[in-house]
Amino acid sequence: MSADITPLIARGLVAPERAAELRRVAERFAVAVTDEMAALIDPADPADPIAAQFVPSEAELHAASDDRADPIGDARFSPLPGIVQRYPDRVLLKPILVCPVYCRFCFRREQVGPGRGLLPPAALERAFAYIEQHAETWEVIVTGGDPFLLSPRRLKALVRRLDAIAHVQVIRFHTRVPVAAPRRVTAALMDALTAEKALYVVVHANHPRELTPAMREAVGRLTRAGIPVLAQSVLLRGVNDDPAVLEALLRGLVAMRVKPYYLHHPDLAPGTAHFRLDIAAGQRLVAGLRGHISGLCQPTYVLDIPGGFGKVPLTPSAARRDDAGRCWLVSDPAGRQHAYPPSDPDAG
Ligand code: SF4
Repeated sequence: MSADITPLIARGLVAPERAAELRRVAERFAVAVTDEMAALIDPADPADPIAAQFVPSEAELHAASDDRADPIGDARFSPLPGIVQRYPDRVLLKPILVCPVYCRFCFRREQVGPGRGLLPPAALERAFAYIEQHAETWEVIVTGGDPFLLSPRRLKALVRRLDAIAHVQVIRFHTRVPVAAPRRVTAALMDALTAEKALYVVVHANHPRELTPAMREAVGRLTRAGIPVLAQSVLLRGVNDDPAVLEALLRGLVAMRVKPYYLHHPDLAPGTAHFRLDIAAGQRLVAGLRGHISGLCQPTYVLDIPGGFGKVPLTPSAARRDDAGRCWLVSDPAGRQHAYPPSDPDAG
């Protein structure tokens, strides 16, 4: 991991007296803040929602009993490096484990980092072969890390390879680049995304301040090229757990032709308990949006069930407290009921 937080001190984002403690954080979890995101931070505001997402905090050193090293069970559903398969018709392909920024709440924070790099060519080849051999694979979700950090040459080769697999109908990219490093959405990257198959891009944005003019321009390049763009957001305590903030985020996305897709309940990633809010609080926030803002702006509020049992909507009918009020009960897509947080330490 990059334990060098000197650039954050130099930018005034971290007070020098916090350096020793935060180096301990950075030794465990990767740290990076792009110039674009750093420019949005008000260093005088101790509750700045952009800083909360990217600047490390002493709170990350606190282990909570609910924490899970692999909160959504990637390892359990990974038949070979670079591939995760939870559902018969969808495959996750992870060609890179590097990101432009390292989100402090990241669900893959134990996997990503600047030293993790690319999936080696032979492993990538085996991942493609897996997709080719599994004819039921309708959609490939390219994630990471951030796949838009691949060079345009590598990205183009990856898109071409997936485009050529007859049974793959949809190629979906998950990326933070248009938000965190919008200058990387270049003509060469756009050219790399040219495909015969349906190609979707899902951007990750959590706060309306992330919707900068540069981000709008980057997203505009995608939408003008005919690429459908969706958004996913994480509901985070101290960042966007506020009706006005959520409304501004969702309206802003739709106004730039980006459809809010998922609003994720935060995962049980290590050292992220300070971001987690109660499901009931999330349900109240989402209920407050209904009837108040356009249906186009409504994402689905979801929980990735710890252990890799899939995503479920957190509607009041789908998530309820157990009779003693000790935990939540949710049903996975196979109809199995799970306690949340799980009581079984092996569940995630
Ligand atoms: S960009 Fe995505 S994968 Fe990377 S740190 Fe943020 S949430 Fe994690």
